[in-house]
Amino acid sequence: MKMRSVVVIGGGPAAITFSRTLKKLKPEAEITMFRPEAHSMVYCAIPYAIEGLFEPSKVFKPDELVTEVGVDLIRRKVVSVDFKDKHVVDDAGCGGIESQDRGRQEEHARHRRPGPQ
Ligand SMILES: Cc1cc2nc3c(=O)[nH]c(=O)nc-3n(C[C@H](O)[C@H](O)[C@H](O)COP(=O)(O)OP(=O)(O)OC[C@H]3O[C@@H](n4cnc5c(N)ncnc54)[C@H](O)[C@@H]3O)c2cc1C
Repeated sequence: MKMRSVVVIGGGPAAITFSRTLKKLKPEAEITMFRPEAHSMVYCAIPYAIEGLFEPSKVFKPDELVTEVGVDLIRRKVVSVDFKDKHVVDDAGCGGIESQDRGRQEEHARHRRPGPQ
């Protein structure tokens, strides 16, 4: 199977594991992850952070978990998915994959590479 572009919606444990595993199996896959949160989180650590047993920052997973393997991370919520046209739209009104919009999508993804917020 030829693998080109993949959109992963979400940045939880399933999304991270899927993206990293797919990159390992198909390094040529172009993966774009949409995640509305500023950080992926270690949920089971939240009660301990609330209790003050360790720093709240320890609850955050580093974005590098996905960006270092070549996943484009877009901090946006997906608002619609068109499976027929293979097109997604985020809450900024941008999106697209394997469509005539692809050039715009790549430009959009480049501008939304992770960085300080
Ligand atoms: C406080 C707490 C403690 C927990 N402790 C444990 C534990 O000790 N052991 C254990 O096994 N489990 C624990 N869990 C449960 C565990 O965190 C979940 O089972 C796990 O997070 C599920 O992973 P997931 O990737 O399937 O979904 P989620 O972690 O729910 O991730 C879903 C992702 O999809 C994103 N998303 C949803 N809609 C959209 C959209 N339209 N566009 C873009 N992104 C979208 C969300 O923003 C999120 O990033 C705990 C959960 C909580 C809240």
